[in-house]
Amino acid sequence: MANFTKKNQQDLLDNESPYTYNLNLPDHVKSNKVLLHSCCAPCAGDLMKRMIASNIDLTIFFYNPNIHPKKEYEIRKNENIRYAQKLGIKFIDADYDVQNWFSRAKGLEHSPERGERCTKCFDMRFERTALYAHENGFEIFTSSLGISRWKNMEQINDCGIRSSKNYPNLTYWTYNWRKADGAKRMYDIAKEENFYKQEYCGCIYSLRDTNAWRVKNNREEIKIGEEFYEKKLISNN
Ligand code: SF4
Repeated sequence: MANFTKKNQQDLLDNESPYTYNLNLPDHVKSNKVLLHSCCAPCAGDLMKRMIASNIDLTIFFYNPNIHPKKEYEIRKNENIRYAQKLGIKFIDADYDVQNWFSRAKGLEHSPERGERCTKCFDMRFERTALYAHENGFEIFTSSLGISRWKNMEQINDCGIRSSKNYPNLTYWTYNWRKADGAKRMYDIAKEENFYKQEYCGCIYSLRDTNAWRVKNNREEIKIGEEFYEKKLISNN
């Protein structure tokens, strides 16, 4: 990772007035270290900028074995690494233990999005994030998952809080990242950075269901690795 300093980070933020926005951690949290479970660069981009603009000592934890196929997983992960390096943020690349994910999702293959399969999916990702936080001296963790309007924030917060309770003195930060135009800036950053544009939530079942909807609505099926926010690349496949 590039050896970015606070000054490097500030230089990147200086001309961007929205990021003078100041975040305050909950009062009972003594340290300014935050572990961010990131699902992808587009969702995490605004959180990353706002946290470093608020002098939070941020570490990204990328643990998303739900993402299928592996090609999609690698693209999403590498986009997040690219942006973390640009902002000088430490990035933890956790396991792709996909078999574990399929075990958890077993029997819920036809559960709708925001249903029980998603609860198990969030639980799995947050349990591992909470474990890492506990083992590495973080008092607080949060997630980029809730910024998307497609997600049920209450469901995500419940899962985050449940995972935090596995450890003493660990808090899940339930901050509403959609506030203060967060959702809009998420799209602005995605366009500025020309992030890869994922067109389904992530798992094989969400890919299946999104493609079924597309076919029904006379649209092309998803082509993995082709859509970016600003320009379309030609796939190698
Ligand atoms: S739809 Fe999204 S949140 Fe739900 S199980 Fe699939 S990847 Fe996880």
